[in-house]
Amino acid sequence: MHSVEEALEAVRKAASKIRPEVRVLPLEDAFGRVLVSDVEMDHDMPPFDRATMDGFALRVADAEPGATLDVAGVIAAGDAPGFELPEGAAARIMTGAPVPPDADFVVPFEWTTHTDDTVTIDEMHPGPNIAKRGSLRQADEVVGDVGQPLTAAAIGALAAAGAAEVEVAVRPRVAILGTGSELVSIDEVPGPGSIRNSNAYSLGAQVTRVGGAPLDLGFATDDEERLRGKVHQGLAGDVLLLSGGVSQGDFDLVPKVLAEEGVKEIFHRWAVQPGGPLWFGAKGDTLVFGLPGNPAATFVGFELLVVPAIRAYLGLPVRSRPTVRARYTGRMGGPAKRRRFRPVALSTDDAGQLVADPLVWRGSGDPFVFTSADGLVVLPENTEPAEGEPVLEVIPVSDASWLWGRA
Ligand code: AMP
Ligand code: MG
Repeated sequence: MHSVEEALEAVRKAASKIRPEVRVLPLEDAFGRVLVSDVEMDHDMPPFDRATMDGFALRVADAEPGATLDVAGVIAAGDAPGFELPEGAAARIMTGAPVPPDADFVVPFEWTTHTDDTVTIDEMHPGPNIAKRGSLRQADEVVGDVGQPLTAAAIGALAAAGAAEVEVAVRPRVAILGTGSELVSIDEVPGPGSIRNSNAYSLGAQVTRVGGAPLDLGFATDDEERLRGKVHQGLAGDVLLLSGGVSQGDFDLVPKVLAEEGVKEIFHRWAVQPGGPLWFGAKGDTLVFGLPGNPAATFVGFELLVVPAIRAYLGLPVRSRPTVRARYTGRMGGPAKRRRFRPVALSTDDAGQLVADPLVWRGSGDPFVFTSADGLVVLPENTEPAEGEPVLEVIPVSDASWLWGRA
């Protein structure tokens, strides 16, 4: 049975030949994508010596506290560079305006007493309050390199570089297939023995969140023929996600049908709870994940293993999720053979330490518990339960960091 690390290594190996498909997009449509080619600055930034404060441009040698200088003119943002500064004079200058070639300092208004015609220096502090031409980036310098995630800030940087179009990774197409004769679609009220196909929806949202393009294939009953048809369809995508049908039950047909469809098994089962029977394989460049059907198992399997895999199609390294460390107020239980992942709510205590409070765990069949989860606490395997409140790793899984503090 694979450890989490071995499983991730297997995914990394299977994904090692995957190269992102390239697409050119207008910059305004590229938010959330990943650059696949370098973007260089097309000019020096700033393009001229630029005042960073409103004040007086002058020669610093003339700016002894107590000195009074004539004001030779006004330079506004948008004026052309080249203002000629007479000896011993100052020019009123506005933030963003070009500094006269003879000036080497901008004294902010707040350090002076001034009239329309003269300025007296009251105090001096370190400066020079000038951003020299090219001091932020020079022409041809890289402003966004391969693998740069296009966050709002990165989009702004590329806009400053004049990159109206950018080359980004195509969203991987991720087919999603539910399996199980008990499944009904969500617009039906489940009769006796039935359950709604909720996993297709959580998975679809999870795929969208990591920059994939979900393709919902609906669900197949536990019937080899039907399953085979849907699997065949799903293998046309970059990634195929199945939920259910990978355990030991009489009707858990997924591994068999996948093998018959030419998908090579890489591992089956890992030392994780929930979701131990997870199946992973590949056919060509298509990665296939058989996620156990219980909603918590599907959710956790996706977060731990499918997220890193999807990164490969975006041109990002396959890596484990970053964690934070938090004081865990729940019971550790154990020692357990498998690494357990449990939903927690995160907050900060009075001392500024991150605290992870457990959410009530009702087993992996609970499709509701993750609704209030900020993260998954990692309860290590083969470890005696710690005394008190141990500091443990937590994987943040919040979808939308700006939606904090619900009413
Ligand atoms: P399985 O992994 O096929 O043994 O499924 C385990 C349990 O997960 C089933 O008994 C269902 O209750 C539940 N389940 C399976 N597939 C889904 C699905 N697509 N959506 C919601 N629950 C499911
Ligand atoms: Mg099943």
